[in-house]
Amino acid sequence: MQKQLVNILLVDDRPEGIFTLESVLASDEYNLVKASSGQEALKCILDEEFALVLMDVQMPIMDGFETANMIRERKKSRYVPIIFVTAISKDEQYVGKGYEAGAVDYLFKPINPDILRSKVAVFVDLFKKNRKIQEQAELLREKHLAEQKEEFLKSKLESLRRYENLANSVPHLIWRTSPQGRFEYFNQVWCDYTKMSVSASMKKWKKAIYFQDLPRVIKTWAEALEKQLDSFSFECRLKEGESGRYNWFWNLVVAEKDKEGNVMSWLGTSTNINERKNIEKQKASFLSIASHELRTPLTAIKSSLEMSMMLLHEKPLNFEDLRSVLAIGNESTDSINELLNEFLDFSRVESGRLSINPKPVNLSEIVTKSVESHMLKIKSIDRLKISAKIKDNLIGSFDAPRIRQVIDNILGNAIKYSPEKGMIAVNLEKVKNEVVLSVRDEGIGICPTDLKKIFHPFKRANKSDHFSGLGIGLYISSWIVKEHMGQIDVSSIVGKGSEFVVKLPLQAKGFQ
Ligand code: ADP
Repeated sequence: MQKQLVNILLVDDRPEGIFTLESVLASDEYNLVKASSGQEALKCILDEEFALVLMDVQMPIMDGFETANMIRERKKSRYVPIIFVTAISKDEQYVGKGYEAGAVDYLFKPINPDILRSKVAVFVDLFKKNRKIQEQAELLREKHLAEQKEEFLKSKLESLRRYENLANSVPHLIWRTSPQGRFEYFNQVWCDYTKMSVSASMKKWKKAIYFQDLPRVIKTWAEALEKQLDSFSFECRLKEGESGRYNWFWNLVVAEKDKEGNVMSWLGTSTNINERKNIEKQKASFLSIASHELRTPLTAIKSSLEMSMMLLHEKPLNFEDLRSVLAIGNESTDSINELLNEFLDFSRVESGRLSINPKPVNLSEIVTKSVESHMLKIKSIDRLKISAKIKDNLIGSFDAPRIRQVIDNILGNAIKYSPEKGMIAVNLEKVKNEVVLSVRDEGIGICPTDLKKIFHPFKRANKSDHFSGLGIGLYISSWIVKEHMGQIDVSSIVGKGSEFVVKLPLQAKGFQ
């Protein structure tokens, strides 16, 4: 490392004065800078840092005192030690003037080389120590700054990590774009859903959007960017990477703006609304099915009335014909009534207005009555056989009309979906402290993928399209059974038949 020389400024208008100082102080430790006037000395002091100034007092234009005063006035040189070199007097007044001007010492001519060298050495030593302290202070400051910077970076990283953790812990797809709409971030939920990495998503995000929705999405974006909106939303279908299926999402995009109102980024959340869309679709198809279902009995009523009118004009009046025509009309009004009751129950379940009022009742009687009334119905069409094995006097706490509704629904379905001359077996027994009702038929059966579906509103099994029905009976039945703390299950083989099993606790907790 190159040795750092210490600057000493020698100020004298006379070359011999400078020469004397120079010859005494010559050393490979000092850099002796010479100035032949006060002005020159001031200029040198501006350019460089000095450990000491040795200055002749008597100089023309600007003497040593004046120069010293000016050196002290400057911030940079305020504390540079000044030793006056003088041949004049040692009287107190004169010396005092020098101290006022900022001198730290005096050297009187003729110069004593030893005194000069030792005085200079003391100040140089002081300067070096000061410099070392300053260097150490500087080092400390730098270290402190570096530590502060590291701390700041750490906390920034930490908050970024927490932001990402938060974005990953919500069940929404979250993403961010630049002010120009270029994708910059996707949360883990997005990557898991689309099965695309962050970098792949940045390039191929369009692939995630259903092709028919893409032009509309791009147009919405372009308009929002142009108008610099605070927020906007749109719906589109996004591809689920694993299944390749498209699901509906509601996308909310919010502008992140700086203090001046400039968009810094666009934050987007995509919420899966497939369920809602499906329900909307189901409701629409429900309306069309319901209208269709109502039209059939209405048409029957209308033709029964027309036929009755015609019969009334006949003479003599054929009472038997009239009775059977009116009976058809009457049956049709029953069907309409049943349908309307189903609608009403459905809306009550959905709005939480259907309640269960259990009272001690004989379940065996309820099941027997349901079986008998269904037997009467099928007797008139003479096609099916119902065999019933009902254990007597099973008394429990049930809402009798609602439980009857469940049995009627299951038994009615067994009849509706059975072939001509099929067999239906109804069984009611007590197992531990439960009653178990099973209804087995030899009907069309239900395929395994439909088995769970049929307890949901408006869901019908594939093969039942050409049978009348709305697909809400089992939904209401399963709701009633659950409200009784019971359970309803189904097992089935397509083409062979189905078995519905309802288990009800005889004394459910919470019921008196
Ligand atoms: P629906 O009025 O359509 O019969 P439900 O809610 O009672 O409505 O039944 C839902 C669906 O379950 C039916 O549409 C039918 O596809 C299927 N299902 C119910 N019971 C049977 C059964 N015994 N055999 C075959 N399919 C049945």
